[in-house]
Amino acid sequence: MATDTVDVLVIGGGATGTAALYDLARRGLRALLVEMGDLATGTSGRYHGLLHSGGRYAVRDPETAHECIVENRVLRRIAPFAVEDTGGLFVSAPQDPPDFVHDWLVGCAASGIPTEELTPAQACAEEPALSPELVAAYRVPDAAVDGFELTHGFVRAAREYGARALIYHRVAALLREGDAVVGAELEDVRTGERRTVRAACVLNAAGPWAGEIARLADLDVRVLFDRGAMIAMTTRWVNTVVNRLRPPDDGDILVPVGTVCILGTTSVHTERPDDRRVEAWEVEKIITEAAAVAPAIAQARALRTWAGVRPLYEPPNAEHHDEDGRAVRRTFSVLDHATRDGVRGLVTVVGGKLTTCRLMAEKAVDAVCAQLGVETACTTADEPLPSEPPRLHRLSDRWRKLEAGESSGALICECEMVTRPQLEQTIREYGEQPVALDDLRRDLRLGMGPCQGGFCAYRAAGVLQEVKPHNDAPPVRALADFVEERFRGVRPLLWGQQLRQFYLDEMIYRRTLGLDTLLNAQEAADE
Ligand SMILES: Cc1cc2nc3c(=O)[nH]c(=O)nc-3n(C[C@H](O)[C@H](O)[C@H](O)COP(=O)(O)OP(=O)(O)OC[C@H]3O[C@@H](n4cnc5c(N)ncnc54)[C@H](O)[C@@H]3O)c2cc1C
Repeated sequence: MATDTVDVLVIGGGATGTAALYDLARRGLRALLVEMGDLATGTSGRYHGLLHSGGRYAVRDPETAHECIVENRVLRRIAPFAVEDTGGLFVSAPQDPPDFVHDWLVGCAASGIPTEELTPAQACAEEPALSPELVAAYRVPDAAVDGFELTHGFVRAAREYGARALIYHRVAALLREGDAVVGAELEDVRTGERRTVRAACVLNAAGPWAGEIARLADLDVRVLFDRGAMIAMTTRWVNTVVNRLRPPDDGDILVPVGTVCILGTTSVHTERPDDRRVEAWEVEKIITEAAAVAPAIAQARALRTWAGVRPLYEPPNAEHHDEDGRAVRRTFSVLDHATRDGVRGLVTVVGGKLTTCRLMAEKAVDAVCAQLGVETACTTADEPLPSEPPRLHRLSDRWRKLEAGESSGALICECEMVTRPQLEQTIREYGEQPVALDDLRRDLRLGMGPCQGGFCAYRAAGVLQEVKPHNDAPPVRALADFVEERFRGVRPLLWGQQLRQFYLDEMIYRRTLGLDTLLNAQEAADE
């Protein structure tokens, strides 16, 4: 079994783990990050996309509110490529409790969140989709943040300082020697190969899976799993983040992200870190609540729904111990297992928000450095990450290139305007590594538009097979997995235009291509 030696092994390729990798590398430590999927495929790729001003937490959770406004400014400065400065509005509908406005303004002032009152008419002039019946509106410095761009940006920057990141590798075991964790055993999830990494310290940044990782060292970290659903609408109903000005509840927020508008979210206690269910009541509730501030949404086309699991954590001595996720504070905890449990070589960071990931990483890396006797201070807030153009595909960039005559080649994905040469080049960039259609989706937005893969998935599968004939999965299974995952996010939204689209997609894959029959034949051949 191959063995590697590093100063620090980071577990988890979400916002927190990748920010920690960058921090460690800047402090001169040899660091390796390991992620069981692709980057940002845990909660950091299944969240709402809001760079919080902190306004949402101003009344009940002032510590988080303050962390958010401070880190909101830091992320805008260091990662401008991942942030769209949409600005934010908090708006009251007639049925919202009027007393809350006073408490909220006091809370925002105490946490350092700037607010500016608008008349409802001014708010409607800026955002014509808003209801004319709104009774109050305030401007706050919210923004939209892209979790994929941010995590890739941190890893890109960390690599410049010599750090490494290993994706599709799962930590299968932690190595313990006496009262110390000394590394981990990794499993390549695609080949099953195992390798050992020895590390002076392991940083557990596994989000909702942090408790599972702690258990590998026989330690108890109780993470509360709080599932939330989101719905992407096919168009940008608003260009500003819109929050409901009331105590936090389901369906309070609309976030414009790229070409869509994301509505959300809910808060449902669950028993599993990978629970991705979206229930019918969640869809209905989210759309009803969004329509209370932007009425046309009730009739609009919904594109896709998905869910993520919040990794909430309350220290054992906290007052709150039940399963009401909204009551749990959104600040974070760093657990130094040397002082907490007498086990050296392991630090866990859990809780928090994507907005506060850099701060979470800073505090976690401080604890790692304290264990290692390293005194170098954190500098991740000091200067921007490398300003290399974003790696990921954007529809607006693609349009600009087409109009300037800088792009050619057959279109593979019409909705997101992905061309054949672009697809071929991206597949080639994986080199010897296997590549799934879902990897190409994240890189190029393939299959993320209104037809949700209906017209592009089979074409892309053909190109993939041509360019990389010895990829890991048989092409039929690769196509079926991709299509099934696309359909899964559409099934809870089957009415109106989306229902028509779904029937068409079903006809293409099940009837015309006979994908189920091909898959059965493949399975029979495999046996
Ligand atoms: C519905 C919802 C909406 C949200 N909206 C917002 C928002 O708008 N703004 C905001 O700031 N925050 C939001 N959040 C919170 C935010 O998304 C999370 O706090 C943040 O993404 C957590 O990042 P993380 O890196 O700690 O965890 P993750 O992103 O979950 O990263 C942990 C990683 O560890 C990996 N891992 C686990 N086990 C192993 C193993 N054994 N080996 C290797 N790797 C492993 C996982 O694959 C995963 O990628 C939202 C959360 C939810 C659920």
